[in-house]
Amino acid sequence: MQKNDVVRVAIEDMSHKGEGIGKADGYPLFIKDAVIGDELEVIVTKAGKSYGYGRIAKVWKPSPYRVEPRCSCAGPCGGCQLQAMAYPRQLQFKEDLVRNNLKRIGGFSEGEIPMEPIIGMDDPFHYRNKAQFPVGRDKEGRIVTGFYAGRTHRIVNNRNCCLGVKVNEEILNRVISYMEENHVEPYDETSGKGVVRHILIRYGFATGEIMVCLVINASRLPAQERLLEKLISIEGMTSISVNINRKNTNVIMGERVKTLWGQPGITDYIGNVQYQISPLSFYQVNPVQTKKLYKLALSYADLTGEETVWDLYCGIGTISLFLAQRARRVYGVEVIPAAVEDARENARLNGFSNVEFFTGKAEEILPQKYEEEGIYADVIVVDPPRKGCDQALLDTILKMRPKRVVYVSCDPATLARDLKYLCREQYRLEKVRPVDQFPMTVHTECCVKLERIQK
Ligand code: SAH
Repeated sequence: MQKNDVVRVAIEDMSHKGEGIGKADGYPLFIKDAVIGDELEVIVTKAGKSYGYGRIAKVWKPSPYRVEPRCSCAGPCGGCQLQAMAYPRQLQFKEDLVRNNLKRIGGFSEGEIPMEPIIGMDDPFHYRNKAQFPVGRDKEGRIVTGFYAGRTHRIVNNRNCCLGVKVNEEILNRVISYMEENHVEPYDETSGKGVVRHILIRYGFATGEIMVCLVINASRLPAQERLLEKLISIEGMTSISVNINRKNTNVIMGERVKTLWGQPGITDYIGNVQYQISPLSFYQVNPVQTKKLYKLALSYADLTGEETVWDLYCGIGTISLFLAQRARRVYGVEVIPAAVEDARENARLNGFSNVEFFTGKAEEILPQKYEEEGIYADVIVVDPPRKGCDQALLDTILKMRPKRVVYVSCDPATLARDLKYLCREQYRLEKVRPVDQFPMTVHTECCVKLERIQK
């Protein structure tokens, strides 16, 4: 096989990145935007020794699962990978992904995986409460905003992404017209010149409150009053701020935020727990599914009201406060100091006096508390980032021997690796249930209940 070869393939499988996989004379090709069940004419774009990549030249026979993507830019946009696949099939893809990882990496047999059906969305669009739009200029010199194309920093112009809330478009239109009218330059990554880098928008689904934060490469925003005039008439506008980021870096947000108008942040609810969200806070992006995920985690924790529970990787304390409604005592651990401050504030706001938060790495705080203070846990909940739990943390969990562990994961591969370690002797899988937090993308969230088998 060589680059630019044209071949006909049937798509028989999907990669974890959402590419369709088909074989041409036994040679596997990974094809972006291909759907399992498609028959395609494919142009080979890269040919390696044992596999290659291709792009669709023509759809000979569409898969029964193929649908018309909602966004006209779904192909080039790097945000979604699965828009061309019917939503029920996306759910199956994610369930399979979790099951296959548990088998291949975790070493569990089919019979050892007590899988419950994935929890999907009734309406899998417009679910995101947060969006960060990069701003730049196109080849013709017009100001553009939207999303980066896959693996690059070329901006695909799109103001009405079908994952975001509908009000995003109006906000972006007004910010861009403010920039045009007042000659406020978008930031240029190559020269490091220009002002506006990103437009961050957050929306409280339960409250209707809106936050707009412009990330700028300057100490102040030129003609700031003009921007405010345009934005404050939007219904729900609650907080307008700038974030200062003068570094030549891929990191979107800088450290300093200045409120220009209204509140420093917005308020939202998950169930009946209230949260304060500032431009820098981590907050789950799909509130509808987050509520289902936390309810599931709470039911897996099986609390009677008497337990001591540890919530590791607790962020702004979202799961901790959910657990605190049913536990005697909850301890949260989080590495980012600002998130811990938010967590404490959220606990105070909701009147919880049975929660305490510690700042630091879970793999350092937990062993320290266990070895030096002899702390105890009935249940441990973990919700680590994609790289999963540190082994030192897993070792401490095994020493502490809680009755139950609830593992909330956003990466099935590291989940499987960590479960294998925990289930060598002491624990067994009691329940596994994916929750679709990110429809149209390949990202897969999963909640697992582990029960101690040794007395
Ligand atoms: N449970 C929270 C946040 C989950 S995201 C929620 O549902 O909202 C994972 C969190 O782990 C992030 O807030 C990140 O800052 C934190 N984190 C990353 N590495 C960590 C570590 N080694 N120890 C403690 N927290 C860590």
